[in-house]
Amino acid sequence: MFFGGDPFEHFAHAGGMPGGGRRGPPRDVDTTKLYETLGVEKTADAKEIKKEYRKLAVKHHPDKGGDEQKFKEISAAYEVLSDEEKRAKYDKYGLEGLENEGGGGRSPDDIFSMFFGGGGGRRSGPRKGESINHPIKVSLEDLYNGKTVKLAINRQVIIGDATMCEACDGQGAVMELRQIALGMVQQVQRKCPSCTDGYKCKTKKERKVLEVHVEKGMKNGQKIQFRGMADEKPNMEPGDINFIVQEKEHDLFKRKGADLLITKTLSLNEALCGFEWSLKHLDNREIVIKSRPGEVIKPETVGGQPFVKIVSGEGMPSKGNPFVKGNLYVLFRVEFPTDGELDEATVATLKKTLPDPSMPVDYDEDEAEVCHLDAADVKNFGKGGAETHNDAYDSDDEDGQQNVECRQS
Ligand SMILES: [Zn+2]
Repeated sequence: MFFGGDPFEHFAHAGGMPGGGRRGPPRDVDTTKLYETLGVEKTADAKEIKKEYRKLAVKHHPDKGGDEQKFKEISAAYEVLSDEEKRAKYDKYGLEGLENEGGGGRSPDDIFSMFFGGGGGRRSGPRKGESINHPIKVSLEDLYNGKTVKLAINRQVIIGDATMCEACDGQGAVMELRQIALGMVQQVQRKCPSCTDGYKCKTKKERKVLEVHVEKGMKNGQKIQFRGMADEKPNMEPGDINFIVQEKEHDLFKRKGADLLITKTLSLNEALCGFEWSLKHLDNREIVIKSRPGEVIKPETVGGQPFVKIVSGEGMPSKGNPFVKGNLYVLFRVEFPTDGELDEATVATLKKTLPDPSMPVDYDEDEAEVCHLDAADVKNFGKGGAETHNDAYDSDDEDGQQNVECRQS
C-alpha cells in the first residue's frame, strides 16, 4: 500500500492536539500509529512484531537504497513495541506517555522528533491558532509623546464545550482509498468535510475593546501584541492580535531611527550674518534655533553633500528609555540673491565689507576678449557645436559612394 504525501503529516497533525486514533481508543491520545508503522495489529504478540519489523527493516534499510526517514520511524516504533514496559505505557498514554521516561537507551525525544519532525514533537498543550496583524496608523506626534488608543475588535468565541467530530474521530482529516492501478491502492488524506480541525462547536461574535498603548519612541513596523485575543477555535489556543505601527508622514519632520530631520532655507544674508527662527516641536514646545556669532552656513559641503548641523538631544525619545533622545538634524539650503536684485550701492557696500573681493585684472584691451556669462544647464554639457550627419568614418556604411553623392546633391 502506498501513502499519499508524507504519511506522518497526519500524525504530526494529531500530535499537538489530543486526538483519538481511528479505532476508537481514549479520546485524547493516539496509541495506534506505531503499530501502523510496523503494519501489525494492536493485538500482535512480540513474535509477530519482531517478524514484521525485520521484514520492513530489510526492505527500507538505507544501505539497500531505502528511505532513511522511513527506516528511522520503523526502528523507533520497534524500540517501543519490543519493550514490554514501553509498549504498555504507549498503549495507555501514547507517545506522550513515553516523553517523561528517562533512563538509558534512546531518548524519547528522538522518537518524538522522528514522528513529528525536527523539534516540533515536544509541543505541549494545544496548538496555537493563527495570529492576526492589524496595521495602526500613528502620527509622529503620538510616537513622540506616546498614546493609548481604544480599538474595538469583533472576535469569535466558543459557546459551551466543543465536541469531537465523529466523522473523523477528531482528526480533522479522513483517509480515503483510491485505486491507482490494478491491485495498487493509494491512501489519500483529505480534510474532514463535517468539521473544523476535528471539532464541532457553536460560536458567536463578541465585541471587545482593546487598549492599545503606543509607547514613546516606537518605530514603524513595531508590534503591539495582545496574546490570545484572536478568534477562539476548538481545541486550540487562540492566536494573538497584533497591531503593527505604521508611522504617518509628517509635514515638517522626517525620521530615521531616533533622529529627526528638518529642512531650513536661509537667505544669503542669514547664512552669512546670522539667523534665528522658532519651531514648534512634536510635543508642542517652542524651540528657537539661533546661530552663534560669526557662524556661517554654506550651501553645501565639499563633494556636493548637503550641509547639515544638529540640535543635540532634540530627536525622538528611545523606546523603553524615553529620556535618551536622538538628535535633530537641520539640512540647510541657502537662497542666493537673483540676478538684478542687488543694486550698485549694495554691491559697493558688500564689496567693501565681505572678504576677498575680486581684484581688477591687468589686460590689453586690443589683445584680450571680454566675455559675459549666459544661463546654462549642466545637462547640456557636451552637446555643443554643430550637429554633423555626414561623418563617413563613424558610419557602418561601407559604400562611401553614396555619402559622396549625398553631399553633392
Ligand atoms: Zn471531522
